[in-house]
Amino acid sequence: MHRTIWEKSKDSIREKIGAENFNVWFDQSRPVELREDHFVLEVKNQFQKEWIEENYRSFISASLSQTARKPIQLAVIVKPDSPAAQKKSLRTLKTPGYLLDSKYTFEKFVVGPSNQFAHAAALAVSENPGGNYNPLFLYGGVGVGKTHLLTAIGHRIAKNFNDSRLIFIPAENFVNDVINSIRYEKMPDFRSKYRDNCDVLLLDDIQFIAGKERTQEEFFHTFNSLYSLRKQIVITCDRFPKEMEALDERLRSRFEWGLIADIQPPEIEVKIAILKEKSENNKIVLPDDVALFLANTSSSNIRELEGFLIRISAFASFYNSEINLDFAKKVFKNISVHNEGIPVSIESIQKAVANHFNLKIADLKSSRKLKAFTVPRQIAMYLSRKLTNSSFPEIGSKFGGKDHSTVIHANKKVQKQLENNIQLSMTIDRITKDLKD
Ligand code: ADP
Ligand code: MG
Repeated sequence: MHRTIWEKSKDSIREKIGAENFNVWFDQSRPVELREDHFVLEVKNQFQKEWIEENYRSFISASLSQTARKPIQLAVIVKPDSPAAQKKSLRTLKTPGYLLDSKYTFEKFVVGPSNQFAHAAALAVSENPGGNYNPLFLYGGVGVGKTHLLTAIGHRIAKNFNDSRLIFIPAENFVNDVINSIRYEKMPDFRSKYRDNCDVLLLDDIQFIAGKERTQEEFFHTFNSLYSLRKQIVITCDRFPKEMEALDERLRSRFEWGLIADIQPPEIEVKIAILKEKSENNKIVLPDDVALFLANTSSSNIRELEGFLIRISAFASFYNSEINLDFAKKVFKNISVHNEGIPVSIESIQKAVANHFNLKIADLKSSRKLKAFTVPRQIAMYLSRKLTNSSFPEIGSKFGGKDHSTVIHANKKVQKQLENNIQLSMTIDRITKDLKD
């Protein structure tokens, strides 16, 4: 059954992403099973898995769903006998909030001028939680390493103080926890979890609670309670506390009680050092000139930089080629279609979306609520987030001064729909292709 679905879907996937991409990413993958609504695909390494999940999951789920005529989600697993898969299962640490990703440790964090202050602060907190740097507030743009450092603190504290009760939670999940606790009248459980049974609270992306009154209220009390018990609180955010207008003043001022550390966009040296470290870890031979080329080609988003490395190495292994500058350039020239990370501007996205739907750019920036406007607007916001390095507030401001929560909502909505709406997936593909021609 699962094999038939895979065989039938293959052609449309190949057609969509191009034969070359298909071969590089899926040639050696194996359909394992269809368990209820999950289609399990096995790939050969962790790199492959991450890349497929990040770039192709929603689209492939949509193709599979169409073939099977029912909603199917793609799940990617790494071939079990590979060392990466084993390491993963051994070292993933569970907290009541969320898993601590085993990849994000201090050992794997490259330190340079752009992040050394934040790194030193994170280390200090791990040695002496609840000490002088409480709360620790880390802020910086997209992909500069906030989640990595926050997670590293969790791992290190767990190692240093093994009876310490940690909670790592993305603020988005914290919001959901508040909402569900209210809805199901479980507030006492919520409080006992976050206030009475927590020694270290690691809250990722706190900008998500801005504008959410009830969550802020709950977080305020959680904060006060933990703080008065000298429990460590570490918070990450995409901007400086004072810039978060929709955040309760009482919270903002509390963030200033401890230490605020920023992470700047990485310098070229840091980018190169990161490439070296990642390539060594993954046994990829990466010559200096190629590292420089990749560092220069990527924006300040380190996730994108890693994506470049993953892609080059996948192509090299498929073609059995060594990685050299010519090869790297060729891979970049040939990038065909789907979701590839070439920087584009919000303005060019607005133009392409407006063209596609026969609208004016002003319609995308307006607040008109007709579906004919809201759908393209949401797509344009989604693409702005995906293809540019802009923050949610920046995108909002370029769409006629909309609040960042509107952009977050649009982004999520499109993502969700992409999971099973093949029409939408094709529309977005076509616009993306137009953008890159
Ligand atoms: P943010 O949370 O700021 O958006 P992440 O922490 O998710 O960014 O980092 C994005 C990617 O870049 C992750 O894979 C992370 O491991 C990697 N990364 C970021 N900074 C560094 C660094 N200094 N050294 C090594 N890897 C890094
Ligand atoms: Mg993050």
